Amino acid sequence: MDFSSFNFETSLQEGLDAMGFEQPTPIQEKAIPVILDNKDLIACAQTGTGKTAAFILPVLNKISKSGSDKLNTLVLAPTRELAIQIDQQIQGFSYFLGISSIPIYGGGDGIVWEQQKKALETGAEIVVATPGRLIALLAGGKMDLSSLEHLILDEADRMMDMGFSDDILKIVNYLPKERQTILFSATMPSKIRQFSMKILKNPQEISI
Ligand code: AMP
Repeated sequence: MDFSSFNFETSLQEGLDAMGFEQPTPIQEKAIPVILDNKDLIACAQTGTGKTAAFILPVLNKISKSGSDKLNTLVLAPTRELAIQIDQQIQGFSYFLGISSIPIYGGGDGIVWEQQKKALETGAEIVVATPGRLIALLAGGKMDLSSLEHLILDEADRMMDMGFSDDILKIVNYLPKERQTILFSATMPSKIRQFSMKILKNPQEISI
């Protein structure tokens, strides 16, 4: 199988070619069709399996097809490093698409905080955030999430271990009820399943 079987938009396929992606990894083969089909998804996959592209590519394809430039997708990640890494992959794939992404994370100095707030005012289709910093922005009324269509939780088990469950539930309260929710986790203990029942609807489950 190669990426052409997903019938991605030409500009996205060009991005894949530019990044040297030829064949989908097993998690991409399984997750991409489910996400393109607008179903909620629980996916068990470790770092290094290509999990980031598995959720980014179908979402970018949908945004590109819709042509909308409103905030469409929120990715939540446990750490600043991971948020930056995901944001960079999105920017790599979107080179030919004209879709933009903003990373929002804590721990920087006041200048970083101001830059993040300014970037949000300029607007982007995708925000990649750590939960604590996002809560601070939402509480300050700095973000309009009413056009959001996709919520993605990356490394959900780590976010729970770091104590972000309540923050995530608070964030979900700001989001439209009609949305697609996608949860990726390296492990699938029962607490993740119970948590996912609170925010996902009839999810498909895949693992590799
Ligand atoms: P991840 O598991 O998302 O952290 O990805 C691990 C690495 O594999 C990243 O550097 C990706 O750019 C790369 N990668 C992901 N999917 C593919 C693919 N289908 N072909 C080539 N490289 C890939």
